Amino acid sequence: MTQPTASDALNWHPLARLPEEWRAWLSSEGEAPFRADQVFRWIHRQGELSPSKMSNLALPLRERLAAAGLQAPGAVVDVKRAADGTRKLLIEFDKGARVECVVIPMTPKTAEDTAYLVDPDSEAEDDEPTSPALESNTKVTLCISTQYGCAMGCVFCASGQFGLQRGLGAHEIVFQVLLARSYLEPGEVLSNLVFMGMGEPLHHYDETARAVRLITHPEGIAMSARRLTVSTVGLPSGIQKLGDDFAGKVGLAVSLHAPDDETRSRIIPMNQRYPVAKLLAALRAYPLPRRRRITIEYTLISGINDSPEHADRLAELLRGLRVKVNLIPMNPIEASTLEAPAETAVARFRETLTGRGYSCFVRTRRGDDVLAACGQLALQGEAATQGAVRLRRGRADDV
Ligand code: SAH
Repeated sequence: MTQPTASDALNWHPLARLPEEWRAWLSSEGEAPFRADQVFRWIHRQGELSPSKMSNLALPLRERLAAAGLQAPGAVVDVKRAADGTRKLLIEFDKGARVECVVIPMTPKTAEDTAYLVDPDSEAEDDEPTSPALESNTKVTLCISTQYGCAMGCVFCASGQFGLQRGLGAHEIVFQVLLARSYLEPGEVLSNLVFMGMGEPLHHYDETARAVRLITHPEGIAMSARRLTVSTVGLPSGIQKLGDDFAGKVGLAVSLHAPDDETRSRIIPMNQRYPVAKLLAALRAYPLPRRRRITIEYTLISGINDSPEHADRLAELLRGLRVKVNLIPMNPIEASTLEAPAETAVARFRETLTGRGYSCFVRTRRGDDVLAACGQLALQGEAATQGAVRLRRGRADDV
């Protein structure tokens, strides 16, 4: 890779610059390039975004950083805590975007409920020694957003019905991690990160990929890529890029939600453009490391995709792929009359899959009492109630 220039650095918000870009920028400002690691560490390791507090930098450099726009791009405007310990941070960014990020502690009591979030096999890999901090503390999974609203239009999802307002910059994505880290409680340690909040991360690939690079950088937050999971509606070219750029190390979760095109197109407009066969081909080509599995997300919706036949077809479709299946009984949303099936139907669906040898979890409604469950993020009081949504049949979306 060629060395970045100062103008490359200027393409990114200061919070989204990598150390090599800081080096180029500092040189162009007549500063010593070795300051780059110090600046990067202040931001990403310490979470310090005020240049005035960067005590080991000379005053003129601190002033230069402030003039270059280094500052927090948003602030927490609300924190809600659910009975199960889940915390929802409402973050307001400049230019009016509001997203939530959800802090989910994995207590022993809820370990089974949350098994869907973390692949137990990934814990057993030998490419990274497990740190003592992770061993002795409560692990926390953080769920972050990549866009304010979403363009994918899935009929069961509050963000999809809200529509895309704007994508978040890499700096705003990484900022959610920095902020959430400062909300960890004693004895908690950030262990996993899921891109499962508002938005479609692969519709916004460059910013998502840059955020992954920043979050995994050893001089910064330094999370191992295998502790990150990107959840996608299933955009094949994005899946391919993610696999290529990170050698399959970043975990992949795919919102399949139906085993056939007819059913899937009714609830996911993007299926018109990227039908099931194309999506499955992209999954087969994903360079999964040994012992890793792709997560198949399946939101169960009463009368739509929850029949025993759907379960049979799903089992057939996934044959030969290394996957685990997460069943998500649909959380109600204001913009739709669709609802979750009865518990017996959920249990039956699960049994069909486990009977065929799949590992299959049912996702419980964590944080439901503060509306932090999926599909409900950030939209209270917003235009989420543009009338009940009817099912779309066979209509291409204008994304
Ligand atoms: N755009 C990404 C992230 C979406 S949110 C994606 O499509 O994967 C994460 C998961 O929650 C997705 O599987 C999504 O389909 C699901 N989801 C959205 N709204 C939901 C709802 N109301 N009930 C249950 N699951 C929902």
